[in-house]
Amino acid sequence: MSVPVSWLEPDVSIEQGTLYVVATPIGNLADISQRALDTLAGVACIAAEDTRHTARLLAHFGIATPQLSLHEHNEEARAAELVRRLQAGDSIALVSDAGTPLISDPGYRLVREARAAGLAVVPVPGPSALVAALSVSGLPTDRFAFEGFPAPRAMARRRQFEALRAESRTLVFYESSHRVAASLADMCAIFGDTREAVVARELTKAFEQVQAGTLAELVDWLAADANRERGEFVIMVAGQRVEPGMADEGEARRVLALLLAELPVKTATRLAAELLDQPRNALYDLALSMKK
Ligand code: SAM
Repeated sequence: MSVPVSWLEPDVSIEQGTLYVVATPIGNLADISQRALDTLAGVACIAAEDTRHTARLLAHFGIATPQLSLHEHNEEARAAELVRRLQAGDSIALVSDAGTPLISDPGYRLVREARAAGLAVVPVPGPSALVAALSVSGLPTDRFAFEGFPAPRAMARRRQFEALRAESRTLVFYESSHRVAASLADMCAIFGDTREAVVARELTKAFEQVQAGTLAELVDWLAADANRERGEFVIMVAGQRVEPGMADEGEARRVLALLLAELPVKTATRLAAELLDQPRNALYDLALSMKK
């Protein structure tokens, strides 16, 4: 039996000495929540990834709260300063340029230090490209692995994909317009032409597109129109299908790890297939990824 959601009366009280981690829109300004607006208007100060960018958001909603910058290059020094302000009783909101702070965005060090100092850290949840993309992908979402941005350099990126080849959860990547074509091509080469995937582009914006297909089809789709390479992307790749009889990946990994410590990949795979009574193909891919 499902438990009914227990709603609270809207609560926008701002507590002293509290760090609010506030999600902001990823494109469509209508996605800002009332609680985010009230929090941004009510805190003593907003720590923003780029104060000029956030100034436009604040101006749009008529909010005049002072800002200071917190980005990857000053986070160490700023975190200590902000923790001191929180300890002195100030309330502070943390925002990034778009979406949820800390999701491939700055703020980790500040949140960690605030929590270590025993301060209250409160989420004001809202948009994130990761969840928005998954929610419309049509790929399995019961389990997924968020991999952030693929490495910018080809060699490192391919190694990263190799290590994920046998992953059975849906894989989610962020990608920029500069590298989306190269990343998709590498995914196609490593995960295979026929692996199902979805490209979500410019979510919540004027040119939003969500395109599903095999990786080979998506490489062609992207190349067919130069405009499709513009903007911001989430790439989702279906996990490796678990073959019938290959239900317990944990057990397969344990047996393969023991065999691979002593034997070459092929022999280890053959013995593991016999021991586990499972098909060789999927075990071979798993063994290869473990060896790497
Ligand atoms: N913190 C943000 C979030 O919660 O989604 C992500 C910040 S990360 C620096 C920026 C990346 O997120 C972009 O390069 C893109 O991969 C993805 N992204 C952000 N907005 C997007 C959008 N509107 N549509 C598709 N992807 C988006």
